[in-house]
Amino acid sequence: MNAPRADYAADPARSRGRRVPEPPAPTRSEFQRDRDRIIHSTAFRRLEYKTQVFVNHEGDLFRTRLTHSIEVAQIARSVSRCLRLDEDLVEAIALAHDLGHTPFGHAGQDALDACMKPWGGFEHNLQSLRVVDELEQRYAAFDGLNLCFETREGILKHCSAANARRLGELGERFLARRQPSLEAQVANLADEIAYNNHDIDDGLRSGLVRLDALDSLALFGRHRAAAQAAHPELEGRRLVHETIRRMIDELVTDLIGETGRRIADARVRSIDEVRAAPPLAAFTDRIRAQSAELKRFLFTQLYRHERVSAVMDRARTIVEELFAWYRADPGLLPVEHRERVEAIGERAIADYIAGMTDRFAVREHSRLSGVDWSDPGAGLLGGASEAAP
Ligand code: MG
Repeated sequence: MNAPRADYAADPARSRGRRVPEPPAPTRSEFQRDRDRIIHSTAFRRLEYKTQVFVNHEGDLFRTRLTHSIEVAQIARSVSRCLRLDEDLVEAIALAHDLGHTPFGHAGQDALDACMKPWGGFEHNLQSLRVVDELEQRYAAFDGLNLCFETREGILKHCSAANARRLGELGERFLARRQPSLEAQVANLADEIAYNNHDIDDGLRSGLVRLDALDSLALFGRHRAAAQAAHPELEGRRLVHETIRRMIDELVTDLIGETGRRIADARVRSIDEVRAAPPLAAFTDRIRAQSAELKRFLFTQLYRHERVSAVMDRARTIVEELFAWYRADPGLLPVEHRERVEAIGERAIADYIAGMTDRFAVREHSRLSGVDWSDPGAGLLGGASEAAP
């Protein structure tokens, strides 16, 4: 049974509304409706074929942006239920938070940002908002998904002052240094819990990260020791799963406890008081430090691993060359995108490339270059492969 929503939670009946007003749905709350629109979007289905850390076709068991987003939503909903937040809003934010990601993860985003430097750059978080506000074309009455203010506020996690001024009411909080709803704050930390843990799992699976190296990290070492003490015969993948399960449990429990304490101390009674208070969703200092240690480890040992970097260098080249070719000859683009280039210039090329899945980008690059990059001999597939079933 769900407990009644707390007074500091977002209330779908008191939403700040949609950009294009719509009559209320008879059977669903406004935030349920947002969540459902996100799940039915084209951008959401594309997440299945976009890189989280490992390029989509490197192995069937690695996380993709889709499974990552579902894990984030699961963690965020668990935290929300305990804190009596609006579960539908937190789920909508979690499922939408990566919709703007380019193919090939951060390498793709950095390459596209460099290409777009003269025209305002490219930022995947801002692009997620652009997807739900403009790029999805499904509804007769408006462009985008016409989501509620609270969902859009949660999707926009960070923003430069220049972009904040351009974004109007959604950008105000960045200029006034105010917080978003607790649902948005929780979704953000659920993202961190999800990727830290699943990247350890995927790093071990790929063989690029070693179990004994992880033992030096307080969080991992503690839970691996506890898992082994409770089950001395445990080994291999099952020991990894048991350790990670315990880590996620501690992080989630710590987040619920510390956030609950901060909410009580701040005595917030409404979403407006949440927005005016300091950040309320947080880990304890000890767990925050241990989580940061893990993040630093993944950064140097996995994200910067030479085998990951080699694949990402290739990915960067694909994005840069696609951008250059479309810019030199918009006739290479499908007709609707060609028309958008005439209307809004280079941003339309960035939108098109950002929407691509990993494999579509590889195929498109092969088509235009005549080089078959999907051929293992061409190197793009020569990255990590699953070391264990
Ligand atoms: Mg994410």
